[in-house]
Order: sequence, then C-alpha cells, then structure tokens
Amino acid sequence: AKKRGRNRYYWFEPQMEDELRFRNELEAGIRQGIPAGEFVPYYEQQIDLATGKLSGFEMLARWESPRYGTVSPEIFIPIAEEIELIGEMSEMLIRQALEDAKDWDPSLTLSVNISPIQLRDPWFAQKLLHLLVESGFPPTRMEIEITERCLHENMGAVRSIVTSLKNQGIHISLDDFGTGHSSLSQLQSLPFDRLKIDRSFVSELAGEGDGKALVEAIVSLGKGLSLPVTAEGVENSEVLNQLQGMGDMTGQGYLYGKPENAAATRRRLAAINML
Ligand code: C2E
Ligand code: CA
Ligand code: CA
Ligand code: CA
Repeated sequence: AKKRGRNRYYWFEPQMEDELRFRNELEAGIRQGIPAGEFVPYYEQQIDLATGKLSGFEMLARWESPRYGTVSPEIFIPIAEEIELIGEMSEMLIRQALEDAKDWDPSLTLSVNISPIQLRDPWFAQKLLHLLVESGFPPTRMEIEITERCLHENMGAVRSIVTSLKNQGIHISLDDFGTGHSSLSQLQSLPFDRLKIDRSFVSELAGEGDGKALVEAIVSLGKGLSLPVTAEGVENSEVLNQLQGMGDMTGQGYLYGKPENAAATRRRLAAINML
C-alpha cells in the first residue's frame, strides 16, 4: 500500500482510520451505555401559541456519557439504528418518560420520536401499548412523531402499526414536514393527527427568505385537512408574532427554553401548579 499513491496513503488513510476508530469507540460506548442507564429523556415545552399555555412536552433523548459528556441524538441515534439497538434504547427512554409524565397535570401530552427502523418491528405496537399499561399513563395523552422517511418504508406494515396505535387512542404526528419527499397523496395515506413544520422553515420567518410562503402553505394545508399544526424552532418573538398571525397552532423552541432533564422539568411544572 505504501508504493501505491503516496499522497493517498499519507493524506487519506490515517484520517479514515481515526474516523473508524472513533465510530467503533462510540458504538462500544452505546452498547455499554444502554444497560448502564446513560440514555435519558429531556423535555421540550410545547405551547399553545394563541393562549401561551403549556400543552405538553416532546421527549428528546440525551446520552449522558461519562466519557464524552452530554451527547446529541444527532450523533447516537444513527449509530443505534445501524447496530439495531434503537428499539431497545427507545423502549428504555419511553419507560422513563412515562414514569416522569405520570405526575404531570392531566391536560399535558407527551410526544416521542419513533425511528423508521422501529416501525419494521412487527411487535412495535404491542411493545408500546405494554409500556403504557405498565405505567398507567393514558394512551390518549401520548403522541408519536414519525418522519416522512417512514412513508417510504413498507407502507402496509406501517399502516397496520399506526392503525392499532390509533385504535388505542394514541395520536400520530408527521414530523419535520416539508423536508422529505412525501407527496400530498402520501400525506393522506396514513391517518395523521398533526403536522409538525420543520425548524428550517420556521427560522426563516425572521429573515427575508422563502420560509414565510412555505410556512403559510403548510398551515393552510393543515387547515384544509383539519390537521392541527406545530411549528418547531420558535427562537424569538418576531417568529412568534408571524406564526400567531397565521392562525391557531402549537409552537416549541428556544424562545420557551431549551430541552430540560426530568428534575428541571418537575421544578418548572411545580412552579406553575401543573405537577
Ligand atoms: P426533531 O424531532 O426535529 O427535534 C427538534 C430538535 O430541534 C431538537 O434537537 C431540539 O432540541 C431542537 N430545537 C428545538 N427548538 C429549537 C430552536 O428554537 N432552535 C434550534 N436551533 N433548535 C431547536 P435534538 O434534541 O438535538 O434532537 C435532534 C433530533 O434527534 C430530533 O429532531 C429527532 O429527530 C431525533 N431524536 C431525538 N430523540 C429521539 C428519540 O428518542 N428517538 C428517535 N428515533 N429520534 C430522536
Ligand atoms: Ca420530533
Ligand atoms: Ca421535528
Ligand atoms: Ca426538525
């Protein structure tokens, strides 16, 4: 290998090796971290923009790694999917989240993100319903968020999972709407209860970009289909004012605070008498 392409060897290969080593290190850390309880739920507030009232929380996973500190799900979810531990990880996170959410005011909902990989598991619906029964948390207060990626998977299987969850009263949201390649007919192919507008469009409301037209289009689509809409990534009051001008919707984002762990969420709820 030394003789062949000096440049390639010295410039390219060592870096690749480092990346591979780091990737394997993360993978080992994830494998150990799951049984060690290092994956924990954080919560982001969801606000009714018309009234300013808290309507629920979205659970967002964090890896509290003794080695790397608090790690973003953008790093570890793709690896957990690849090594097929996403189901196990998600189950542990949802179990903890339901335990936390049991103490919340009964008006509050809990949303969780579900990977397309999990929807390939024929037992997914049973597993989720089991967690709900185990915790005593009402299925009608639970929402699962699936992305457009799921609509390209085996639609028959996805539809049967979604149908059995909906029969139990669980709500289904279409997450990151507008970022994928779903057509309007695919949007009608599953009985969604909510559209979530991706932050990349919402954040453009503050500037001069095309974001505003897109957000307006999605909001009117939601009205046409009688689907409530959530705007994610509401970072400032300018964006908030624009959204409020478009109609009733739910919003979430740093304007209301960053996602917080269970203890901070409890304190927040106690302070507003919702615990
Ligand atoms: P998402 O579902 O689109 O979640 C919203 C992401 O935007 C979160 O990042 C949140 O912290 C961030 N965010 C919220 N408000 C703002 C804002 O005002 N400004 C900015 N700049 N960012 C904001 P996070 O927590 O890093 O999660 C990233 C993605 O990881 C999520 O995107 C979701 O797709 C995925 N994810 C998180 N937890 C889980 C999980 O338990 N299971 C699965 N399958 N995916 C998860
Ligand atoms: Ca989400
Ligand atoms: Ca989202
Ligand atoms: Ca998003």
